[in-house]
Amino acid sequence: MHIRGEEKRIIIVTAALIVFAGVLSAGYILWNLRETNTLLERDILSLGESLRITKTHLENTRRDNTDLSELLDATRNTNEVLSRNLEEQFSKNVALESKVVDISGMVQSISGTVGTLQKLSETDEELLKKYSKVYFLSENYIPSRLIPVPDEYLLDTRLTKEMHADVNPFLTDMMRAADTAGIDIKIVSAYRSFDEQISIKTGYKMLYGSGANQFSADQGYSEHQLGTTFDFTTPVLKILSTQFEKDSAYVWLKDNAHRFGFVLSYPKGNAYYQYEPWHWRFVGVQLATKLYQEKKNFYDLTQREIDNYLISIFDR
Ligand SMILES: [Zn+2]
Repeated sequence: MHIRGEEKRIIIVTAALIVFAGVLSAGYILWNLRETNTLLERDILSLGESLRITKTHLENTRRDNTDLSELLDATRNTNEVLSRNLEEQFSKNVALESKVVDISGMVQSISGTVGTLQKLSETDEELLKKYSKVYFLSENYIPSRLIPVPDEYLLDTRLTKEMHADVNPFLTDMMRAADTAGIDIKIVSAYRSFDEQISIKTGYKMLYGSGANQFSADQGYSEHQLGTTFDFTTPVLKILSTQFEKDSAYVWLKDNAHRFGFVLSYPKGNAYYQYEPWHWRFVGVQLATKLYQEKKNFYDLTQREIDNYLISIFDR
């Protein structure tokens, strides 16, 4: 084929244009790529920075966490120590408390003992003594406080009778209870001094000779000198006689006198003295009730047994 000069030029120019356009576009693409690369690099840098910051934060947090957990451990230890101390303190307190209780118990029991001893020392021990033909009350004995027996209780009001002041409330209650039950009881004798006793005994001796020793002038001698013992009769019977046992007054006394602390000193068939249904001695409500319930006589008990009731003799 034959190419002309004009065509040749056109082809060259066209080719040159194509090449130029190619170079231009390649340049553009290259520039564009570089730009993108720069942006990416910047992003990467910024990411790296963020990562570093995050890592630092993370490390800080980790350090903080470690610190916190150490603090927690320390706190836990402190708590354990504290709670152990608390427990020790608590058990010490408990021990102290029980010691305080012990001590106050001791103080109480000591003061109770002191009170008991004081009450005992103030209670006349003669009031619960067993008297016999060989053991009797001293002639110098006089009850701590004597008061007159109210006239309304006496069979014969011409002579004043006296009694132990502390027995008065019990005697009064008993006489009132008897009265309420329709029972009329009168007192023939109450407190008798040693001298009065001597003159009674002399009177008996003049009447009965030396045989008088077996009569009531001897027995109950000491009990009347205590001021806590009474001889009872009725306005009908008027005398001290074993006939009294057939009277409703005696029956009432047998069933009720113990409630007011009185006992029959010489019951029928006793091994010590002649039977005296009229002769009643005050021994305190507790002892009298025990004797009544166990169907025993005062003189059947040992002195040691009886002495246990001394402290409560005037308890109601
Ligand atoms: Zn008597």
